[in-house]
Amino acid sequence: MRFTRLRLNGFKSFVDPTDLVIAEGLTGVVGPNGCGKSNLLEALRWVMGENRPTAMRGGGMEDVIFAGAATRPARNFAEVSLLIDNSERLAPAEFNDSDILEVVRRITRDAGSAYKLGGKEVRARDVQMLFADASTGAHSPALVRQGQISELINAKPRNRRRVLEEAAGISGLYQRRHEAELRLNAAEQNLARVDDVLDQLA
Ligand code: ATP
Repeated sequence: MRFTRLRLNGFKSFVDPTDLVIAEGLTGVVGPNGCGKSNLLEALRWVMGENRPTAMRGGGMEDVIFAGAATRPARNFAEVSLLIDNSERLAPAEFNDSDILEVVRRITRDAGSAYKLGGKEVRARDVQMLFADASTGAHSPALVRQGQISELINAKPRNRRRVLEEAAGISGLYQRRHEAELRLNAAEQNLARVDDVLDQLA
């Protein structure tokens, strides 16, 4: 799954529409302190479905919206769009009709987040699964933030295993197993209720 473009609008310090081309090979972002390098990485995590405000260095999800500056008022929404090269048609069948797959996440004050995949409205889960199945996503070990290496070295084995599972692309299977277990429990409860009714009728 190759990312080709990242577009930001009103996301953190990127108040004006910004379009970044992601060329093939390794991408490095350089710039003076506070120019927004980490914000770019956070935009990438956010559009892939990150839902923990702490991972965005904020207290609430709306903190990703441009908060205003001395000369500019705050914005009411933030939008990040990620373009993915789909020429090998690796996207799920329903989104597989084009060479470019666009993932868009938009947050509006007091209205929460909305996602689009290939122009169609989808749930956060659909976006998270798309990336998890491709061994990437908001928690991908390929996105290394400051201090993460020492965290990993000092991590408990269980947490380190989670990193390996993300890299192996099996974290999406855990989510599906959890959902299947919930459905199974609900079905078992329904069966128990049917048994009760049958007992009463007997
Ligand atoms: P460093 O090299 O010091 O790690 P950096 O280039 O990674 O810095 P960032 O941490 O990405 O910089 O950007 C910090 C800047 O983003 C700060 O100036 C901060 O005020 C600004 N910023 C963060 N959130 C918002 C927001 N919601 N609205 C406006 N500006 C914001």
